[in-house]
Amino acid sequence: MADVRVENLRKTYGSMNAVDDVNFSFPESSVTCLLGPSGCGKTTLMRIIAGLEKPTAGDVYFGDRKVTDLPPSKREIGMVFQYPVVYKGITVRQNIELPLKSEKISAPERTRRVNEVIEMLTLGPVADKDVSRLDNGTRQKVSVAREVARQPRIILFDEPITNVDATAKLQLKRAFKEVTRRLSQTIVYVTHDQTEAMTLADQIALMRDGRIVQCDAPRELYNRPEDRFGGWFLGNPGMNFFDAEFAGDNRFLTLVSPLFPSPVAVEGAGLSAGPVTLGIRPEQILANHERFDGAIPAGLDRKSIQIGGQYLLTLRVEGLGATPFKAKVGHESGSRLPDTGRIWIRLPLERVTLFGADGVRLPARFPAAAAVGV
Ligand code: ATP
Repeated sequence: MADVRVENLRKTYGSMNAVDDVNFSFPESSVTCLLGPSGCGKTTLMRIIAGLEKPTAGDVYFGDRKVTDLPPSKREIGMVFQYPVVYKGITVRQNIELPLKSEKISAPERTRRVNEVIEMLTLGPVADKDVSRLDNGTRQKVSVAREVARQPRIILFDEPITNVDATAKLQLKRAFKEVTRRLSQTIVYVTHDQTEAMTLADQIALMRDGRIVQCDAPRELYNRPEDRFGGWFLGNPGMNFFDAEFAGDNRFLTLVSPLFPSPVAVEGAGLSAGPVTLGIRPEQILANHERFDGAIPAGLDRKSIQIGGQYLLTLRVEGLGATPFKAKVGHESGSRLPDTGRIWIRLPLERVTLFGADGVRLPARFPAAAAVGV
């Protein structure tokens, strides 16, 4: 069952559609990340779910219950914002316990829940300290602990690690991973940080211009973007795009591109001759200093080492125009490559995605490609 459902949801500010007719279900007991560039409507959508913002049109349901007109306090949700919300002058333990007291939870049950979240969020060493003496990252952990201890059915997170320093970010990411792994609550998590979304989410709802353009498990979304936007937005750097062409007719179609030594047979319902866009992620391109099977020559303009020891290559291929593209290779094969000059590359067909003129992924298959899992 869907725990949170929005129907025909719209929010306009003047002539701007911040949320543009969204129909979406957030599955029960799972973590859904709302991911997208700044201004795409993530926070507005979450604030409407929370009851902090009234939609211009449409409805919000929690289970079968319509909650569109209920204030936040009546929605039985937990919320964690960008800035930690804590009560200064009292201890971490007291901060977590306070809302449980106002909800009239029995003393033994309060103690059990407080101890449980303190352990889950590794707050043990600071449990009896005044929160005023803690850094921002730890205070944010306290905010999370307090919401988790209340055990609402739904918890909403709005970019909770945006405003903490790098060390605290890392700690909080670890803590969130643990919390989301252990909780059975429905979590909606807003972020513009794809690594955060990739690590935490069961599914990512990718947003653009007020709409959810794709919702899938992180790996599926990464490997099979439904349109060019998903390919471009995810990845660092994002997908490479190349102009290519389908030649022939619907009985025998080939993909023609200077990236392949010869035209490649392609099949799929509704495909026809004409221009297409070929997409491949930088780390899916194979590169070698010597010629290898199925490879084409490429000019290496630049080779730079990345955090983690991978090499980022700036490449050109004759016949593809002046714009260079990127490949990312492991340390071992990267260190064998020259700094600049001619190298050999191959685009594995099973990693290639094709898009139509409208930017939407085409249902294309390569009969010659090896089968790979997502
Ligand atoms: P960010 O990651 O930068 O927080 P976001 O994806 O969460 O972005 P929103 O904050 O939901 O995006 O904003 C969506 C659009 O609505 C933006 O163009 C924003 O400027 C606009 N907007 C949001 N709130 C208001 C408001 N109160 N008044 C006018 N415009 C608003």
